[in-house]
Amino acid sequence: MINPILIIFGPVGSGKGTQAELLVKNFGIVHISPGDMLRDEVKNNSPEAAVIKKCMEAGELVPFAITDELVRRRLELPDVEKGIIFDGYPRALEQAKTLVGMLQKKGKSVTKVISLKLDFQEILNRLSSRLICLNCRAIYSTKVNPPKVEGVCDKCGSPLTKRADDQEENSIKERMKVYTEETSQVLDYFEKLGIVEEFDASGTIDEIHDKIYLSLSMDFA
Ligand code: AMP
Repeated sequence: MINPILIIFGPVGSGKGTQAELLVKNFGIVHISPGDMLRDEVKNNSPEAAVIKKCMEAGELVPFAITDELVRRRLELPDVEKGIIFDGYPRALEQAKTLVGMLQKKGKSVTKVISLKLDFQEILNRLSSRLICLNCRAIYSTKVNPPKVEGVCDKCGSPLTKRADDQEENSIKERMKVYTEETSQVLDYFEKLGIVEEFDASGTIDEIHDKIYLSLSMDFA
């Protein structure tokens, strides 16, 4: 199998992070999620922490000078040679072009864009039940994928928390608005390159993963 460079795409709550984790496990590729990297910057009180926190809590995109630089630095690490899945990046046309340029400099290109489709009511249901581990970044759902012990991460034993930006309906609406207005342009951009495949994201975690896994296995066998 070649080492694919994948982008997983879909509205907030569509299961991007969960599916990305499974693909990382099953294909041995690395996970690049600016959302996780930005939460780390806030946790570690980096110089940009205040700006990042303000944008994230409002559901707005963090300035590209910050996010693109985090991705650029991540791409310098040697493990990216195993293949990559980008999760939450690119989120705007400008970022898509930046990413394609960064990859080109390394003689690489995006292999496939996985586009998850989910309706708004199901998105709200999922976000209201989402829990994350700030230590190891595992994701749970109190409804469909609860931790074995309530409020405790199965993987590392740390306390689980709700994301601050999942609690506010205004923040959810803002993220949906941003997704519709800006991120859909990214999809159009990659559609023109003929590398987008859509998946219905309304099934169970395993059902969706099986469909994606099968498709990628056929592509990269
Ligand atoms: P996520 O964990 O991917 O849902 O991202 C959480 C938040 O981090 C988003 O609502 C944005 O505020 C910020 N963020 C994540 N990815 C990006 C990106 N590619 N560009 C700008 N801001 C981002």
